[in-house]
Amino acid sequence: MHLHDLSVKKIRQGLMEKKFSAFEIARAFLDYAEEKNKDIGAYLRLTENLALEEANRVDIALAEGKNPGALAGVPLAVKDNILIEGELATAASKILENYRAAYDATVVKKLKATGAALLGKTNMDEFAMGSSTENSAFQLTKNPGDLERVPGGSSGGSAAAVAANMAIGALGSDTGGSIRQPAGFCGVVGLKPTYGAVSRYGLMAMASSLDQIGVFAKTVEDAAILFKEIAGHDPLDATGVETEYGGELLNPTLEQARSLRVGVPKEYFVAGMENEVAAAMDSAITSLKSLKLEFKEISLPHTKYALSCYYIIMPAEVSANLARFDGIRYGEVGGVSRAGLSLFDLYKQNRGRGFGAEAKRRIILGTFILSAGYYDAYYAKAQKVRSLIKNDFNEAFKEVDVILTPVSPTVAFKIGEKVNDPLAMYLSDIFTIPVNLAGLPAVSVPVRKSGLPVGFQLIGKRFREADILAVGRFYEKIFENR
Ligand code: GLN
Repeated sequence: MHLHDLSVKKIRQGLMEKKFSAFEIARAFLDYAEEKNKDIGAYLRLTENLALEEANRVDIALAEGKNPGALAGVPLAVKDNILIEGELATAASKILENYRAAYDATVVKKLKATGAALLGKTNMDEFAMGSSTENSAFQLTKNPGDLERVPGGSSGGSAAAVAANMAIGALGSDTGGSIRQPAGFCGVVGLKPTYGAVSRYGLMAMASSLDQIGVFAKTVEDAAILFKEIAGHDPLDATGVETEYGGELLNPTLEQARSLRVGVPKEYFVAGMENEVAAAMDSAITSLKSLKLEFKEISLPHTKYALSCYYIIMPAEVSANLARFDGIRYGEVGGVSRAGLSLFDLYKQNRGRGFGAEAKRRIILGTFILSAGYYDAYYAKAQKVRSLIKNDFNEAFKEVDVILTPVSPTVAFKIGEKVNDPLAMYLSDIFTIPVNLAGLPAVSVPVRKSGLPVGFQLIGKRFREADILAVGRFYEKIFENR
């Protein structure tokens, strides 16, 4: 058994044919992950007992002839801002260094019910703020394809874990690109579902109008299987929408894929894109054209405002969401004693010591944006621009069904290259942010080529994950039999 050969489907087959037990799979992944993590730093910690218990349950169910669940024995990684009952959940922040989750996030509850084995919690940028995972308070994560480079972020640990075969799939969160960009940098598939498709209950909120939980996998097919298991309405998330995802999600037909018109927005192919990315995009488009998909140039005219719009709305929401880490309800930092401190000083000590530079920068910016006198000038105006960006997509989707773009303008950059230049870092997300502002689903698919990974992004209509996954799946198929 080679861990890198396994997929969700193959694990199921192997279990049914008794080639291995769920326990053996979990044990093998845990051992490998522990060893490999020394180089990659993808996991903040493994949840060994949890994974082995779940695997045992699957083996018992199988022995008793019961259905072991749709993801029986599948080893998965979970981003550290998603809660698993009884386990540490730090969001890679010092302020939550000792915080243990009191309950399971809905997605975790669902995964546990499918028989998946949750291997551990992955590294990330603090509270999901960043594009390189260098903003983690605890450790660096390295790109498995080149250890001198970043894995992307903020879900860099999840992307790297899957890329390095330390898990079959992983959960991440995406507020402005945090699943798709690291997937692109690490050469794996990353799906950000439609806003409202997956419950966010138990995800630590960053910017609530943009946040969405999604999945990483090695193939589009696996990503579709994982997504189907976590999607669905949850009464505990008021922004959730009741939708049914049918069989087309898992078994698309070529006819269905061919009926989809693909739009290529001219605003996304601009100067400043690295040659390597431009060449990879050409190659992806050529391959997709060989499937006889219809292509069309489209325009998303307000794209140039997306980044500024995001960097108003996101910090405003961050400043409100992170207010709960006050050292009383959450976020008591070791070494800060309550005795003799006024309330103000208690907040100041805990928040001052507990938050890293990027979190502070955004809290300060967001508080300013929301302050009396500036609210209309910044926040209200950004909301109007957001409507224009949404409308661009609505118009485009009258002509096409799927939109194809690069994931990011560069390949994975060197560790340390951008960490002291926030503006350069923010530019990494220029192609992913409009999707969150519009609440659309999008998937990052690795371009088949040698060298550093590059991803292409497929953006779909609201709740049409099936469309983007179908196109991605047939792209993947071109290379399957070679
Ligand atoms: N890199 C973006 C940011 O720092 C997106 C983060 C995310 O999607 N969580 O805001």
